[in-house]
Amino acid sequence: MSEDKGIFERTLVLIKPDAIQRGLIGQITGRFEMKGLKLVGLKMMSLDEAVLREHYAHLIDKPFFASLANFMQSSPVVAMCWEGLEVVDAVRRITGITKAREAEAGSIRGDYAMSVSCNVIHASDSVENAEKEVKRFFNPDEIHSYDKSEYVYVYAEDERG
Ligand code: UDP
Ligand code: MG
Repeated sequence: MSEDKGIFERTLVLIKPDAIQRGLIGQITGRFEMKGLKLVGLKMMSLDEAVLREHYAHLIDKPFFASLANFMQSSPVVAMCWEGLEVVDAVRRITGITKAREAEAGSIRGDYAMSVSCNVIHASDSVENAEKEVKRFFNPDEIHSYDKSEYVYVYAEDERG
């Protein structure tokens, strides 16, 4: 069950300002808890322009970047770090595609959003980016190690390593 065996990953989720305003923090967090993921980092924070330019570097030249940055600064966000077996991919599936009104029913975006921009959460899109993003939003002492007894029911023994 150790995370240093290399099979367990960590990923970053941000609950975006639209979800904060709409009172969806509990429901969104509950989706990840119900899936069996382990919460290892959690905080509310306000994002400055510099962190947004880094986080959304792949979108800086897009015409919507200014309004995206504005939206992401319109309230604090909730940053979460979730841990689990192949969790980066699992969380992207639970998140649903960017254009929320076409996102699969049952996904968070599919169930809670209609917009391409206001799509309730961010989730890391690859293992490599997840590692960078967790470091971007959390100091090492804000990521917690603890035993989750439920893991023996969430994973088979051979999967836990
Ligand atoms: N976004 C937007 N307009 C677009 C595409 C993206 O406002 O046409 C915003 C939206 O909030 C999205 C974020 O930029 O979630 C990051 O875009 P990306 O393509 O990385 O999508 P994601 O990984 O969030 O699904
Ligand atoms: Mg993305």
